[in-house]
Amino acid sequence: MDWELTGKIIWGLCVVAWGIIRFRPNIKARKTKIATTKRPPIERFSMFASQLGLGIVPAIWVFTGFPKAFDHAIGPASIAIGTALFLFSLYLFRKTHKALGKMWSHSLDLRENHKLVTKGIYQKVRHPMYSAFWLWAVSPPFLLANWVAGLAGIVGFGTLYFLRVGQEEAMMEAEFGEEYRQYKARTKRIIPGIY
Ligand code: SAH
Repeated sequence: MDWELTGKIIWGLCVVAWGIIRFRPNIKARKTKIATTKRPPIERFSMFASQLGLGIVPAIWVFTGFPKAFDHAIGPASIAIGTALFLFSLYLFRKTHKALGKMWSHSLDLRENHKLVTKGIYQKVRHPMYSAFWLWAVSPPFLLANWVAGLAGIVGFGTLYFLRVGQEEAMMEAEFGEEYRQYKARTKRIIPGIY
C-alpha cells in the first residue's frame, strides 16, 4: 500500500468536501447585505496566510513534490488519525454553517438584522467554525508525508486566528452588548470547558 499517496488523496478529498459544504452557505449569505464591516487592514494579510497554509503550500507539495528535502515516512496509524481529525472538522463546518445561516461571512462583517447565535453548536463554544479550522490545520501533519506541507496550516491559520479572534469578539460586544458579555461569560472560545 502506498501510504503517501493514500494520505494525499484523503487530504484532497477532504478539501473538496469542504468546498462543497461551503458552496451553498456562501451564495445564501451573499444575498444578505452587510450592515457594518470591521475588517481591519491586516485581514487581507491574515486571510492570505490562512489560505496559503491550509491550501496552497500543501497543494504544491501534493502536486509537485516540492520541497522534497522535508519528506518523511508515514504509515496507516498516522493516516487514520489525520482522517478522523479532518472528518470531525468537516462535520463541525456543516454544523456551524447550518447554525449561522445567512449571518455567516468569511471576514468581520455584521449583516442586516444580524442575530446573535448562541444555540446548538454555538452553545458549546463561541467559535466552533474556528475549532473546525484548527482541526483542519492539525490533520495534515498526520496525512501528508512532508513537514512543510504538514505544518503550514498551523502557522497559516494560527496567524489568522490570533490576529482576528479578539477583534471579532470586540465587534460582537459592540453590537450585542450585555447579551454578548453574558454569552462570553458562559462559553469558551474553541475547546469546550478548556480554552
Ligand atoms: N467565530 C465564529 C464565526 C466565524 S464566521 C466561529 O468560529 O464559529 C465570522 C462571522 O460570523 C463574523 O463576522 C460575525 O459576523 C459572525 N458571528 C460570529 N459569531 C457569531 C454568533 N455567535 N452569532 C452570530 N454571528 C456570529
